Amino acid sequence: MFIESFKVESPYVKYTDNAIQSVYNYETTELVHENRDGTYQWVVKPKTVKYEFRTDIHVPKLGLESKTTHFLWVSFSGGVSWATKDKVQQANYFGSLTQASTVRVGSYNGEEIYAPFKSLLPMVNPEDIVFGGWDISDMNLADAMARAKVFDIDLQKQLRPYMESMVPLPGIYDPDFIAANQGERANNVIKGTKKEQVQQIIKDIREFKEKNKVDKVVVLWTANTERYSNVVVGLNDTMENLLASFEKNESEISPSTLYAIACVFEDVPFINGSPQNTFVPGLIDLAIQRNCLIGGDDFKSGQTKMKSVLVDFLVGAGIKPTSIVSYNHLGNNDGMNLSAPQTFRSKEISKSNVVDDMVSSNGILYQPGAHPDHVVVIKYVPCVGDSKRAMDEYTSEIFMGGKNTIVLHNTCEDSLLAAPIILDLVLLAELSTRIQLKAEGEGKFHSFHPVATILSYLTKAPLVPPGTPVVNALSKQRAMLENMLRACIGLSPENNMILEYK
Ligand code: NAD
Repeated sequence: MFIESFKVESPYVKYTDNAIQSVYNYETTELVHENRDGTYQWVVKPKTVKYEFRTDIHVPKLGLESKTTHFLWVSFSGGVSWATKDKVQQANYFGSLTQASTVRVGSYNGEEIYAPFKSLLPMVNPEDIVFGGWDISDMNLADAMARAKVFDIDLQKQLRPYMESMVPLPGIYDPDFIAANQGERANNVIKGTKKEQVQQIIKDIREFKEKNKVDKVVVLWTANTERYSNVVVGLNDTMENLLASFEKNESEISPSTLYAIACVFEDVPFINGSPQNTFVPGLIDLAIQRNCLIGGDDFKSGQTKMKSVLVDFLVGAGIKPTSIVSYNHLGNNDGMNLSAPQTFRSKEISKSNVVDDMVSSNGILYQPGAHPDHVVVIKYVPCVGDSKRAMDEYTSEIFMGGKNTIVLHNTCEDSLLAAPIILDLVLLAELSTRIQLKAEGEGKFHSFHPVATILSYLTKAPLVPPGTPVVNALSKQRAMLENMLRACIGLSPENNMILEYK
């Protein structure tokens, strides 16, 4: 059964005019490896840590600065509908965790009761977001929509009048970082040194805020995949070195890192939806020093999402994947940009580590250091446009040396998978800036660590604070996010025990 909303009644939860406050017992374990009676033993000690959470319930007027993909949202406002050859289609949010998924809140008369994910905590309504952004191409959004060939023509006709006048601001362009085949688009660029370019981005953000009267802004990189920046000691390895290099106009600082620097200076959350290492160590250091949210990398929309489900299932079932081979072909501009070896390499890296945590979780199947063969191929095939093909072959070893081969063929419009993820990233990043917490013994409330691991569910290569484990398994990432929000309203993690019926 489905309910729209609910309220928690508990001695551990208080709803005030400004905040939801909760006291939460975090049940965890402490491990010790110690010599007992002459042999070393692992000892697991259950441990409870008391936390307090405080969530500001004032949902701000939010601005999102990104690039042309945001035209996808225009259709959602006002509940637009359009004719396809099959039916009259209503705009929806399918594919968005916050808008189209549910959470279990309990049982009632023997039935499981679910509520919208977004009902856990007050979140920005997507229809209230104000959009702006930069692009190195000055094409207006109506023409960009036509060029992208994603939306049905009847929808395009309805949206065109609203989008014709929407033209992106000039962006920071450096041909060294993206494929040469993108050069023709670059007719809308910010001139000057890197410092001047960052100053322009800061000015743009301030003017956008002022003009649209928004309380908060989130910036999300959904521009081209760049090549990796070289990480060099003295250049970008620390905050001081990165800022000094930036002053000196060093060529190895990528455009995406420049936008990120501008955002951190302005205390504007910055999310990287592409695979490159925008967050060089010096930038992470800068974000930590200034306590500004950064999150990424690379939207987890299709093939990698399947992988982080399937390999988790296989390894969790005691089956040993021995090879994973993934082919993609796509014909959109992303595919064209990825046809250059240096940008493809960024994608290959971000796709490559996705099964590491699952493999290392099972020492029965894999000896230390062992892992399945894992190959990723991406080819540009203009004919298929945005309708990306992902073909995967998973070979596994099963009982008594048997072999199991699973083959998947996934066809889907790439942009329609990514847009709801963009929305979730923005809404969750904004929400997480309103949550404060403190563990027992900590004097003051503080925000989450600025490197936003809470966004991992939505990213292929989750960015984590230095020295923190990376979790790729999709179900664990979702549970982490849901349980964090549950903690904020004093609910225990979902444990799936359903003891009431045992
Ligand atoms: P796209 O090529 O259609 O759009 C990229 C846009 O960025 C272009 O309009 C380009 O002119 C603009 N641009 C390039 N450099 C810029 C700069 N320095 N500043 C401002 N604008 C700039 O690409 P897309 O399909 O929208 O994908 C965007 C990014 O998202 C890519 O890196 C892609 O790999 C990543 N991504 C997409 C998906 C998906 O669509 N399913 C999934 C994961 C990651």
